[in-house]
Amino acid sequence: MYGLAMAKGLMVTLKNLTKKPTTVQYPEERVKQHPRFRGEEFVWYEERCTGCASCAKYCPLGIIKIVTSPSETAPKQGDKYRLEVFDIEIQRCMFCGLCVEACPYDCLFMGSGFEQGKYSRKDMVLHVEDLRQADKHPSTFFRPQLEASGYDPRGGRPLNWREVGRESWRWHQQEKSGLRLEHSPVDTAGSQQESN
Ligand code: SF4
Ligand code: SF4
Repeated sequence: MYGLAMAKGLMVTLKNLTKKPTTVQYPEERVKQHPRFRGEEFVWYEERCTGCASCAKYCPLGIIKIVTSPSETAPKQGDKYRLEVFDIEIQRCMFCGLCVEACPYDCLFMGSGFEQGKYSRKDMVLHVEDLRQADKHPSTFFRPQLEASGYDPRGGRPLNWREVGRESWRWHQQEKSGLRLEHSPVDTAGSQQESN
């Protein structure tokens, strides 16, 4: 009986010897990531953001904090606001994507990263400067326009604000509430490309 059990165990081993492995030796090797993967670092385009706070209102966990002040560049009623605080408590995020779905200006995207583990929970809060300075590799989650273009967030280049919206970026030039350029070196580069 003992020998039979051993033979059965060996058969299982032999059967699996010929199978293609389903795991990889991370971090040397990585499995291909789906473009719609909802990763940990959000992608935010300040140029598109009006400070409307829809993303914060729709977050079921209330982990987005937005504080705005009137922008001196667009002070009239209905104009966009300056973002003083845009904090996302990513340690509590469940990556439902509702904040991204709620954003009317296509300026908030799920990220595509997954390697920002920290020792302390308080270090996991994303602040407005983190969002400003992060590399822009947006997930194609809830962004069919990106998916249709075949964009690969992990393999592709960072995208600027002109390339990610449903509408042409020129629409934002006329729309008083949808354009902010002061903080954008990328935008300056984009403007130069456009004028060439
Ligand atoms: S993904 Fe969901 S839980 Fe996370 S910040 Fe957005 S709405 Fe909140
Ligand atoms: S990210 Fe979108 S929803 Fe959030 S404040 Fe900016 S424009 Fe509004």
